[in-house]
Amino acid sequence: MTATADANSSTQEVAAELRRRSAFVMVSHVKPDGDTLGAGLALGLALRKLGKRVHYFQQDPVPRNLRFLPDSQYVSREVPDDLPADALWVFCDMSDSARAGAYLPKLDRANILDVDHHLGNAHFGAFNYVLSSECSTGTTMMHVLRELGIEIDEEIATCVLTTIMTDTGGFMHSNTTPEVLELSAQMMRAGANKEQITEEIFANKRMAAIKLLGKTLDAMRFGHGGHYCYSYVTQAMLAETGADGEDTEEIVNHLRSIEGVEVSALFKEYDGDLRVSLRSSGRVNVQAAAARLGGGGHFRASGLTFSGSLDDAFAAVDAALTAEGL
Ligand code: 5GP
Ligand code: MN
Repeated sequence: MTATADANSSTQEVAAELRRRSAFVMVSHVKPDGDTLGAGLALGLALRKLGKRVHYFQQDPVPRNLRFLPDSQYVSREVPDDLPADALWVFCDMSDSARAGAYLPKLDRANILDVDHHLGNAHFGAFNYVLSSECSTGTTMMHVLRELGIEIDEEIATCVLTTIMTDTGGFMHSNTTPEVLELSAQMMRAGANKEQITEEIFANKRMAAIKLLGKTLDAMRFGHGGHYCYSYVTQAMLAETGADGEDTEEIVNHLRSIEGVEVSALFKEYDGDLRVSLRSSGRVNVQAAAARLGGGGHFRASGLTFSGSLDDAFAAVDAALTAEGL
């Protein structure tokens, strides 16, 4: 690609490309969250209003707590055979295309639009729209929707507010700027039901999830003079509680919320992988720590996949965090 291929496209260029194409596939990352899915559904709903053909590709099933999102029933890991060759694949909320998983068909870069807000996004598309100052990919997408002149209806507003509430931790994280609150208010006025979204995303835990939380709290360990707290989820813990991978989502935030803890980590054994989630209170850059081990994310929230034993993972993550100043 040329040197300019790495640069961000302008909002106008992205909107023009969306108008030019007739068919689209929205792509969400593995272990999807409300941002990757909400951002893709918001753009998909908007493009459907323009009469476009829209599909949704996601390797993993829609998590239970996101099934309230409009059109989420159309999300699948299959793509139709009769897609036009110039269908545009819109990757939402991922810093590299590998985050879409192993089922992603081989794509021509010319047919990739990368919409994201992660630090260190690889600009892997022919078109890249990456705004790292945005709190979510959904709010990044809003610039495109405005440029397209789309009316923000109740369904789109619900998707966008879900991306915001997911990535700000229900308006608690430091990325909750006055602009984010203003945009959220607009989404509520457009019909998004904040109470319902709160209930669905944050207050709808299965009993198995709470039992698993108890086990991980029992197993937690501390390091770095109490500034580091970590724990783990094994296959056995999942089996004993009846929980699954979706039930692990919030645990790492509980570990971070302990007084004096600057960084928390949760090591999760499931689906044959060892997944690690990292959270920081703001001094230590956990995106940089994850990147040392092939992962990525944000300054205060990142993740990675590790191949090796739990003990090896503990040691490798500790070393990466130490190198980042923990
Ligand atoms: P989580 O701990 O919730 O899985 O992920 C926290 C943040 O890190 C999210 O923004 C997510 O997109 C990012 N992230 C998680 N795992 C990976 C990974 O393996 N690679 C990259 N590049 N980012 C990740
Ligand atoms: Mn995000």
